[in-house]
Amino acid sequence: MDPGSGSGSGAGEGSDPTVSTDQAGPPSASTDSAAAAAAPPSRYESQKRRDWNTFQQYLRNHKPPLTLARCSGAHVIEFLKYLDQFGKTKVHVTGCPYFGQPDPPAPCACQLKQAWGSLDALIGRLRAAYEENGGRPDTNPFGAKAVRIYLREVRESQAKARGIPYEKKKRKRNPPNTAVTGGGAGGSSGGGGGGGGDDRS
Ligand SMILES: [Zn+2]
Repeated sequence: MDPGSGSGSGAGEGSDPTVSTDQAGPPSASTDSAAAAAAPPSRYESQKRRDWNTFQQYLRNHKPPLTLARCSGAHVIEFLKYLDQFGKTKVHVTGCPYFGQPDPPAPCACQLKQAWGSLDALIGRLRAAYEENGGRPDTNPFGAKAVRIYLREVRESQAKARGIPYEKKKRKRNPPNTAVTGGGAGGSSGGGGGGGGDDRS
C-alpha cells in the first residue's frame, strides 16, 4: 500500500493565486477646494459636477452657439431630448403590443430613452449647479416652468407606456382603512389597466 496517507501532493494547497488587491490608485483628485484634506466630494456632488460639465459641453457644441446667459427653458428641454439617445429605458409607443406592460415577455422595436426619474434628478442637480456657478435664481433655466411641464409630461407618458405608476409615494388622500390586510381593497383604483379602452391621443 502506499504510505502517502497524508493528503499529500502539495499541488493545490495554500497557493494563493496572487490576488491583486491594490489596484486602487486614487483617481487623481483635482483638488480645487482648499479643504480637501479628508472628505472626498459626495457622490451627489461629483455627479452634479459631471452633469454641469456635460451641459456646458452641450452648449459649446450647440449650433448656433449658445451661451449660458442666453439659455432658456426651451434649450434645457432640447438638452433633455438630446440625452434620450443615451437612455436605457424602453418606452413603448402606443402601437406596441407591450404598451403599458412593465415586464414585456419579448423584445420590441421601441426606442430606449432616459427614464423620467433620471431626468428629474438631473434637472435638480443642474438647477443647483447653475446657482452655485453664479446664476441668479430668477433666471435659472432649469427652474423654468416649461421644463417642469415637460418633465411632468414625460412622467405621465412613461408611466402609461411602461405600466409603472410613479406617484405611489404621495397617497395622502385615502385615510388608512382599519384592519384591511393585503392592501388593494377599495381605495386606489388608479392604475387599473384592466380592459378600459381609455385611448386618448
Ligand atoms: Zn415596445
